Amino acid sequence: MTGREIWGRGRHNAAIRGAALVAGTIVLIAVIIVLWKVNPVEAVWMPKCVVHSLTGWQCPGCGITRALHAALHGHFAEAIRYNYFLLLSLPYLLAVATVSWIPALRRRRRLHRVVLGPELAVSYVVLFAIWFVVRNLLGI
Ligand SMILES: [Zn+2]
Repeated sequence: MTGREIWGRGRHNAAIRGAALVAGTIVLIAVIIVLWKVNPVEAVWMPKCVVHSLTGWQCPGCGITRALHAALHGHFAEAIRYNYFLLLSLPYLLAVATVSWIPALRRRRRLHRVVLGPELAVSYVVLFAIWFVVRNLLGI
């Protein structure tokens, strides 16, 4: 493989990454606009949780759309009450997105390894499962 082929492939990957970034940003903005405009409590057409519909249990993600709607209107205490796990999820997911998508941070290997490493991801998944049990035992 020549240097020119490697160079061309790198530019192709950068173009795909850039297109994915633009598409993801557009989808994120659309979701934010819908969640800001539509109250999930009142909108019957909003998707409902399948786990809750089938079992009556609150899944770990139950309340997230209501919480995001409340947060977008500045009602942060109400947002947290809908799903306390957001206190952990939002900073973690924001850190993952930031380290993954900002090129200057992607080059910081130690930060990249900590935020995107298996230890933090496994810890998050374990806490997610614990949250599933705890919220149903306590009814929160
Ligand atoms: Zn749910």
